[in-house]
Amino acid sequence: MDSSIDEAAAQPGGAVQTPPATPPRTPDPAMPAATEPAGEAAPRTAPAAGGTGEERSAAAPTSLSPSRASDFMQCPLLYRFRVIDRLPEKPSEAATRGTLVHAVLERLFDAPAGERTAPRAKALVPGQWDRLRESRPEVTELFADDPEGQRLAGWLAEAERLVERWFTLEDPTRLEPAERELFVEAELESGLRLRGIIDRVDVAPTGEVRIVDYKTGKAPRPEYAEGALFQMKFYALVVWRLKRVVPRRLQLVYLGSGDVLTYDPVLADLERVERKLHALWEAIRQATETGNWRPRPTKLCGWCDHQAHCPEFGGTPPPYPLPVTAPGPRTV
Ligand code: SF4
Repeated sequence: MDSSIDEAAAQPGGAVQTPPATPPRTPDPAMPAATEPAGEAAPRTAPAAGGTGEERSAAAPTSLSPSRASDFMQCPLLYRFRVIDRLPEKPSEAATRGTLVHAVLERLFDAPAGERTAPRAKALVPGQWDRLRESRPEVTELFADDPEGQRLAGWLAEAERLVERWFTLEDPTRLEPAERELFVEAELESGLRLRGIIDRVDVAPTGEVRIVDYKTGKAPRPEYAEGALFQMKFYALVVWRLKRVVPRRLQLVYLGSGDVLTYDPVLADLERVERKLHALWEAIRQATETGNWRPRPTKLCGWCDHQAHCPEFGGTPPPYPLPVTAPGPRTV
């Protein structure tokens, strides 16, 4: 199966949609967010110099992505800050590097198969960094205190190392992706809309589908693999709902540690994920109506941009911006 997919000819997907724009991505080092569908209420990055940082708009959630589902499971209050309050977040070096590496891996497939070499991929890094700075000027703030450019040079070199490591894990000269950075959206029978962006879809001549996601962090320990696979099963569910095809393989490529994690789902896996997402959405709906968004402190709080607003850290959340339409305890 693997070789048949590796040698697959391009077969554009049918019921999938092209993303309206290359979206910002938040990669794995901070763990909570993986992909950010354009158009979904997602964490905003802090404005570039000159912005006020005060403007924000609140809205009730209307759809679910893997990243936001993970946010809610990690900490309901974090979900509220990101999706409802839409509080700005500072760009991080790790997250921005992840965005850059993803862009390079996507663009490399523009070249003919035989020219998809590591030197060519590394040569794409500076240009993609320029494009990223143009589309998201706030990322330049990351290196505002680096006038000599030394830290930036090290950061770009690490991006090149991650790109180079990919060639030890996959061979792009033998791949012809059916889709790259594919925006997908499906509505379940309940009305719940699921959406996300899949890094790469390979389709074998036999029709078998492989969903691939790149991670610039390290592979999780085995006991945490299930959490890592949640995002992939989410995508598999969306593909199944759209095309009535259960993806043959889910593949996570960890560039940080040089590992590949695979899982071959069956329909029962996807049905289980669907039930889980319905339960999650019901919990989100109740929290939205009652305004009861509880903080759930964990060691991941160290990555959270919102400690100043979090009661667990002595902070106060902003006034709840939505009408409370159902009785319930207001804890924040
Ligand atoms: S600091 Fe921790 S508990 Fe507070 S909102 Fe962030 S993730 Fe949740």
